Amino acid sequence: MTSVLETASAVTARAPAKVNLELGVGALRPDGFHSLSTVYQAVGVFEEVTVATADEWGVSVRGRDAELVPTDESNLALRAAMRLAERAAVEPVHVTIRKEIPVAGGMAGGSADAAATLVACDALWDLGLGRSGLDPIAAELGSDVPFLLHGGTAVGSGRGELVTPVLARGSYHWVFVPTPVSGLSTPEVYAAFDELSAGHDVPEPEPSPAMMAALRQGEPEALGVVLSNDLQAAAVRLQPQIGDVIDAAMSFGALGAIVSGSGPTVALLAAGQEGAIDLAVSLTASGAAADVIRAIGPVAGAHVIPAPRLT
Ligand code: ATP
Repeated sequence: MTSVLETASAVTARAPAKVNLELGVGALRPDGFHSLSTVYQAVGVFEEVTVATADEWGVSVRGRDAELVPTDESNLALRAAMRLAERAAVEPVHVTIRKEIPVAGGMAGGSADAAATLVACDALWDLGLGRSGLDPIAAELGSDVPFLLHGGTAVGSGRGELVTPVLARGSYHWVFVPTPVSGLSTPEVYAAFDELSAGHDVPEPEPSPAMMAALRQGEPEALGVVLSNDLQAAAVRLQPQIGDVIDAAMSFGALGAIVSGSGPTVALLAAGQEGAIDLAVSLTASGAAADVIRAIGPVAGAHVIPAPRLT
């Protein structure tokens, strides 16, 4: 019997953004990377990617911050499709990305595009790899890509690409504040981290028992107080406005506030849905934030969806 996917010439998938609930950063390694221990949560801000059979490889981007995203072969989604195509004799695809995740915001938008592209191409080309079969290619593409294939809440180690799910209860209401000034580049933030930690003993990072206990408990109040990010001081040093957003959010009743990844987006944990609405309104009405994005986590990782939206 011929399946729908075997005859499809286009497949659409979506993938979520991530927030790092905990980001422990070790000393600079000889290979130029830092060892990381992170606890990721996938949150409901979604990229939607359609891959369609085409005469030549290509990518187009629409939606939030689309003009900031490259449309050549440096685009992570296009790289994902071309890398996967090396595995099989397949025709080129055109990748269309609809963005919701702020670009260069520390929420892994490019990695989400890559994860969605991998599952969409796996289906379009009928490769049957599934998420676990896609993991090695995902890890080659970027350290956040394997997590965004799987979603949920998980510990990431190595450069972040070795992903282990954790027992996590509860559902969390987040308010994200993308800072209006230009994004922080990840290398810049790590360089500031190295400067700030020079002369100090930097221990090998590992997931904290307090974080694991809070996730087992499943209460936002418990999670709020254990959020931590070793890159936060470096990000705030480079963009002091980040610290202002955090202070304002805490004064408006956020349960916790953290820089997402290497920033500059600030992730605020709210007390339930009402709390998230109140926090979003207070931040925008007071002028502390020009823009906010509300989302729930955890959510599932990259998955095929029935059909592309028409608008
Ligand atoms: P991370 O949290 O993983 O550090 P980020 O959210 O800070 O990532 P991205 O939005 O993934 O950052 O983009 C980082 C850079 O990658 C952008 O400045 C852009 O030039 C480049 N890039 C390549 N492909 C994409 C894509 N599909 N979407 C967004 N950015 C892309």
